[in-house]
Amino acid sequence: MRRSEFFLEYQPQISLADGSLEGFEALVRWLNPTLGLLPPNRFIPLAEETGFIVALGRWILDTACVQAATWSDATGAPLTVAVNLSARQLKDPNLVADVRAALSFSGLPPQQLVLEITESVLILDPEHAAEVLLELKELGLRIALDDFGTGYSSLSYLRQFPVDILKIDKSFTDPLTDPTSEGTAFVKTILRFAGDLSLSTVAEGVEHDSQRAVLTQLGCESAQGYLYSRPLADAAVDAYIFNAAATAKTPHVANRRGASNRVSRKAT
Ligand code: C2E
Ligand code: CA
Ligand code: CA
Repeated sequence: MRRSEFFLEYQPQISLADGSLEGFEALVRWLNPTLGLLPPNRFIPLAEETGFIVALGRWILDTACVQAATWSDATGAPLTVAVNLSARQLKDPNLVADVRAALSFSGLPPQQLVLEITESVLILDPEHAAEVLLELKELGLRIALDDFGTGYSSLSYLRQFPVDILKIDKSFTDPLTDPTSEGTAFVKTILRFAGDLSLSTVAEGVEHDSQRAVLTQLGCESAQGYLYSRPLADAAVDAYIFNAAATAKTPHVANRRGASNRVSRKAT
């Protein structure tokens, strides 16, 4: 961290209803001078084990919030940013204070921050997790359940947690390339379940237009994946936002929500 070897990439999240840009998921990378570019799966487990994830996670949160605030101000649209939280961070007694500090330092409106937590993290210590999530939600942000469907929790568990968004894991998105496959039934069930509980839905790992078509038809709200974009370095995000605005049928970075958001932020 002292040598600034960590950096974030941002993967666009797209509205399936109209193809507009909703925001980004922040994904950490390590450019190690000897080992080269390392994906998170190579160092997050070690950072968890040593506890370094707490300091790294704080930096990730601060950086992602500042970036999202900058992009929102530049476009006038309330772009969201989703930040992944690990098990160790959820146990850290300073987490809520750190999130509050990241929001106030960056000026990012809390409703534009999403914290992503996997099911497996929640079930390690469900009572404590539920308490922390409630405190986080009091800040005004939203919680996404990451890799939904891959954990071992029972559905009734979910009621304990104040979750706003279900992220449908790539393993469920994959079979949708064949709309007649059995896999479609799982996604349909997850989406109906989410609808009944008034949860938003994001499909992960969307690579093919056929998957986009099925997800749209089944009523999934948002998607991310290589079909739209690989994770982008921050400099490339500027160009992406600019292009998205220029090519959208309805100018999506200046939509109605965006316009009113811009006015109210200027007024305050
Ligand atoms: P995740 O949160 O499930 O993130 C999605 C992963 O899928 C990312 O891998 C992303 O690059 C990849 N992906 C996105 N779209 C596609 C697609 O269309 N096809 C394929 N094949 N892959 C796609 P990445 O960046 O290597 O991250 C892996 C995992 O590392 C993440 O899984 C997350 O659990 C963890 N991670 C990443 N960044 C952070 C972070 O800042 N903090 C923490 N605690 N964990 C992180
Ligand atoms: Ca995630
Ligand atoms: Ca995921």
